[in-house]
Amino acid sequence: MRLFIPLLGLASCLGSAFAARPAPSQNMPLSMRPVFDTLVLPDAPDIWRSGSGRPGPAYWQNRADYRIASRIDTASHVLTGTETITYTNNSPDTLDVLWLQLDQNLYRKDSRSWVAFPDWHPASSDGYAIERVTVEANGVEKPVAFHISDTRMQVSLPEPLAASGHALKLHVTWHHTIPGEWGGRTAVTKVKDGEIFEVAQWYPRLCVYDDLRGWDTLPYLGQEFYLEYGTIDYAVTVPWNFTVAGSGALTNPQDVLTATERARLAEAAKSDKRVLIRTPQDVLDPASHLARSGEKTWHFHMENTRDVAFAASSAFVWDAAKLDLPALPVAKGQKPQPRLAMSVYPREGAGPQAWDRSTDYVKHAIEYFSTQWYPYPWPNAVNLGGHGAGMEYPGIVFDGWQDKNDLLFWITTHELGHGWFPMIVGSNERRHAFMDEGFNTFIDSYASQHFNHGEYAPKKDAEYAPQTGDPAKDIVPVLTAPDAPTLMMPAELVPEKYRHEVTYFKGAYGLTLLREKILGPERFDPAFRAYIRTWAFKHPTPSDFFRFMSSEAGEDLTWFWRGWYFENWWPQYRLDGFVQNPASQGGENTVTVGVRNEGKLMLPVLLRVTWQDGTHTERLIPTEAWMLHDRLSLSFPGHGTPRTIALDPDQGLPIPDRRGLILTPETSTHP
Ligand SMILES: [Zn+2]
Repeated sequence: MRLFIPLLGLASCLGSAFAARPAPSQNMPLSMRPVFDTLVLPDAPDIWRSGSGRPGPAYWQNRADYRIASRIDTASHVLTGTETITYTNNSPDTLDVLWLQLDQNLYRKDSRSWVAFPDWHPASSDGYAIERVTVEANGVEKPVAFHISDTRMQVSLPEPLAASGHALKLHVTWHHTIPGEWGGRTAVTKVKDGEIFEVAQWYPRLCVYDDLRGWDTLPYLGQEFYLEYGTIDYAVTVPWNFTVAGSGALTNPQDVLTATERARLAEAAKSDKRVLIRTPQDVLDPASHLARSGEKTWHFHMENTRDVAFAASSAFVWDAAKLDLPALPVAKGQKPQPRLAMSVYPREGAGPQAWDRSTDYVKHAIEYFSTQWYPYPWPNAVNLGGHGAGMEYPGIVFDGWQDKNDLLFWITTHELGHGWFPMIVGSNERRHAFMDEGFNTFIDSYASQHFNHGEYAPKKDAEYAPQTGDPAKDIVPVLTAPDAPTLMMPAELVPEKYRHEVTYFKGAYGLTLLREKILGPERFDPAFRAYIRTWAFKHPTPSDFFRFMSSEAGEDLTWFWRGWYFENWWPQYRLDGFVQNPASQGGENTVTVGVRNEGKLMLPVLLRVTWQDGTHTERLIPTEAWMLHDRLSLSFPGHGTPRTIALDPDQGLPIPDRRGLILTPETSTHP
């Protein structure tokens, strides 16, 4: 064997640690490589959830359908409502109580959240006043006892609700005051031409009863939700000069819109460019309304949804454009409804790089995500320029009228992306935030590349790659922070400092690594699409997701789930050096490269040898290479003297210490 660098005499190594023992293979106890240990996922497979990550043969889910009539008293900001919930118990259990979520009680000064998270509470209210609760059986309504505990209400049923498809009707009458400007969810915001009411989490909603823990009654502390699916039909009564934009389809346009507005909507339904339904001039002109006094009731309908929200104001400019999506199925005798991308915002939000472009962003997000992942299932998508909550609801998102430029694109795309996670794929946001924020941020990063030839690429905001736009670089401080929570940490235990960095960014980048570095798009994309399709309008857990992706993509990914989701581990490799072996007795000449693992998460890493003539030879070192060794030697057919040898040559892996990843004959002599 001829040494590449004869200066080193008999030492066979050019790199630092390759000395003395060429191609050493150090055996280590398995405990040194915990990433390969058996991983017990939090939820064991059973008849309801299968080992493949799919719903099991006995999977069930309860259903909640709502009919709601509501009215805003715009002077006092009081919202009153009556609702009928048809609740279907598909579980194998007989239920003697029901639990409902009363999110508005978050704003009470005696709420758990008020004490636990005081910073979130610039505005307060008295929460819900529950006026009446009755259960209807055989057409007869009976008042029932209820008990309120913080943001939940327990209803005791006079007769138990039988299992396996039995249903009852629950009637609830309530009112509450909409809190003032508050940076989270529901708000009333003053603008030049009036007030914007952003109304969300506004009616008592059923808690989920599931196979995992029965009633899931985590209190609302200010984070997100877990809700049942059903049909929601709701009506909102507001003053004559208000416009209401809400989840679902407006079912009575003739009662609330002028002939001009309806004609403009019909034009928008054929237009790729936005059409103004209410212009800035209309906002100032009382004659632009259907009525000149009194109130109007706006009626909306939405199917297969876990929630509805709406916005109401006399200050709205309103524009719309066609969504290029197939028509939704309609009941017999009904006409298919147009599907529209829409924006509502105050006049001061208009501007060529501001809300004038919003509907374009809405149209892009909905059409792109539909093509790439799963078809958008609802008639319309609305972007509201309001207080700036940056908050998602099915069919409508609440953004800020002051947003503009790339930030308006990113926030709009992100909030609409939640239409897929968790509005279509109904994971439990209150427990597993990475399954909505992380998954959504992942699809958003590709949407940035896709929009208008990458006008806003790469995604580089608080949610993803905030420093440089390069996730492999920007994730390193998050991975190595000693106090960072893991992705499996329950949502409310993630400190604000790490909410975006871990839940969103690390959650998203995990899927990027899976797609681009572990499975490849050709295996990841069909598997992820199948996951969305399989769990659409259902309730998957992290265990279901982990099992599904391993099974569907055909790769045991246990090591990655452990290292990236259950732990904060990272890859760390070094080149040990190389030797050039001359041809002897008809054999080939070869170059042998030593590689060392020093990390706990062994992502597949590319080794590239570039020759003097500029050509190169590559080998992907698989994760399995490190099952029994922390040092490897790889031989390449010789092609003269290497110019460089590089690990992760395109810097696509989040390797914290990038020293020792490139060797040249020069650096090799001075390791
Ligand atoms: Zn989000």
